[in-house]
Amino acid sequence: MGEWHPESPARLQAIEDQLILARLDGLFERREAPLAELPAILRNHTPGALALVRDHTPKVDGETYPLDADTLLCSHSYQAALRAAGAALAATDAVIAGTVSNAFCSIRPPGHHARPSEPMGFCLFNNVAIAAHHALDGHGYERVAIIDFDVHHGNGTAEAFRDDPRVLMASFYQHPFYPYIEPEPCSPTSINIPVPARSKGDVVRPLITEHWLPALHAFKPEMIFISAGFDAHRDDDIGGMGLVEDDYAWITREIMAVARQHCQGRIVSCLEGGYNLSALGRSVVAHLKVLAEID
Ligand SMILES: [Zn+2]
Repeated sequence: MGEWHPESPARLQAIEDQLILARLDGLFERREAPLAELPAILRNHTPGALALVRDHTPKVDGETYPLDADTLLCSHSYQAALRAAGAALAATDAVIAGTVSNAFCSIRPPGHHARPSEPMGFCLFNNVAIAAHHALDGHGYERVAIIDFDVHHGNGTAEAFRDDPRVLMASFYQHPFYPYIEPEPCSPTSINIPVPARSKGDVVRPLITEHWLPALHAFKPEMIFISAGFDAHRDDDIGGMGLVEDDYAWITREIMAVARQHCQGRIVSCLEGGYNLSALGRSVVAHLKVLAEID
């Protein structure tokens, strides 16, 4: 999105670097992200939203096109967005087929701010929402849960499934903060909890225990998607919260326990935010060690 932009290719390299440092890079089965099929994108997005990204992607390398003040397209953006969504779709297929027990999509651009009708906030297509639609409408699942622990509210995901009883969304997010949406009351399918800036694990963990977990157990998801943003980390200056690697490991363990109890461990986790490169890499390692049952 430009040399100055925090949503940069260095983020994925930082994850690779920390996997190597942790001597875990050889332990994971890696798959290339295919391009998403357009009908799968159009289950979540309007044709206008798709056309906005496709038609404004510059044809010349080095040019950018601003969709909003901090969401820019370069000549590779449309392909990258199709591959990010394609990774989430392929991971969903693989987990449902049972060829892998769970999957992490190391992808960018992120997705959870992308509204059904327009991209925003570094996000072009809503990868997790597209994958959730695929599990529901493509595979015939009746109940999926989406857990979002990014520091920002996943407004695009919440909007996509606001009136859909098949999807339980559980999140916490710093408030007041971008995208500056007023909190909505919790319901049986919407457990989105605002928390004040500077909140640490001692605030967040009890909220998860008290609010997310009973709702998840009552809902009995057939599959769990994670919007895995790591910008609530203490070292991340984009957010203002105080989580550390141990908190991400703890949250992942709690999600794993729900998945084991209700859906044979089926989890697809997709990278969202996380902009301090070292903290991002270390937090993803903590998340992956739990998903892979190494820790
Ligand atoms: Zn974020």
